[in-house]
Amino acid sequence: AKEAGKNTYQFFDADMNTQTFERLLMESGLRQALERREFELHYQPQVSCDGVSLQGVEALIRWRHPQLGLIPPGRFIPLAEETGLIKPIGAWVLREACHQMVAWDKAGMRVPRLAVNLSARQFEQQTLLNEVNDVLAVTGLAASRLELEITESMLMQNPQEAISLLGELKALGVKLSIDDFGTGYSSLSTLKRFPLDYLKVDRSFIEGLPDDDDSAAITEAIIAMARKLHFTVIAEGVETAEQGNFLRQAGCAILQGYFFSKPLSAAALEQWLAAGLQH
Ligand code: C2E
Ligand code: CA
Ligand code: CA
Ligand code: CA
Repeated sequence: AKEAGKNTYQFFDADMNTQTFERLLMESGLRQALERREFELHYQPQVSCDGVSLQGVEALIRWRHPQLGLIPPGRFIPLAEETGLIKPIGAWVLREACHQMVAWDKAGMRVPRLAVNLSARQFEQQTLLNEVNDVLAVTGLAASRLELEITESMLMQNPQEAISLLGELKALGVKLSIDDFGTGYSSLSTLKRFPLDYLKVDRSFIEGLPDDDDSAAITEAIIAMARKLHFTVIAEGVETAEQGNFLRQAGCAILQGYFFSKPLSAAALEQWLAAGLQH
């Protein structure tokens, strides 16, 4: 057992060195990335369950690092959260994405709705309300076309405060969605205390569809209950036609996933739309 422990230690040690190096490189880079304009947004289509119409897009951030290449958010968002840099980065995402929507409008390309991910650190009453208010005023984007995605843990940390903040966001006219539903511990009845419009069923449930009986039963139950509680249900991580068919039959309204499209640069989304929905 001691030998194994030693090996494990050595493995982690070597691994830590590259990790520490990467972290240092990333932390210093992250501080300058905004002014150096190294962030970009990709947009993943959300499609009606019949596959016919574009319902919206979700903005997903990427970091084009001069040395490390294109870095996915999973590799720098946690660091951005730890360092507090997520606040200016999150504010940039909101502005950039809303400006893009208006640019698409002007170009005659109708993207009905834009979903933006919020981090826990951004979920702070006055700053967030000001940021949302400002970006809507500056861009002229209709509030009802902006959807903010939040997670269960953000709501449960301080439910009373969350209800009040969400209420004020709703008063501005924006839409609210619960992301990654099913990965936390809250039930649908708990969530009903919050003024949410959309519920996104986490990819982990969609993965096993249609063959895994447990995934199928859980997904069907979530969709049925969510509909009764007047959430619009979005399934994420739809990768196959069979999953799409299952979800449509289960009553899911909106589908998102690689089966329809990966997240695309703004230019690539324009081409994707011009080519017509593929499925
Ligand atoms: P998320 O909000 O759950 O976003 C969905 C993730 O699933 C995206 O990964 C997307 O590319 C991926 N995905 C979509 N369809 C499929 C599919 O069919 N199969 C598989 N295997 N994956 C699929 P991405 O872009 O790497 O983003 C990861 C996470 O980073 C997001 O998870 C979100 O939590 C966070 N994130 C992304 N952009 C932002 C942002 O602007 N602000 C904040 N605070 N977080 C962000
Ligand atoms: Ca999301
Ligand atoms: Ca999600
Ligand atoms: Ca997620």
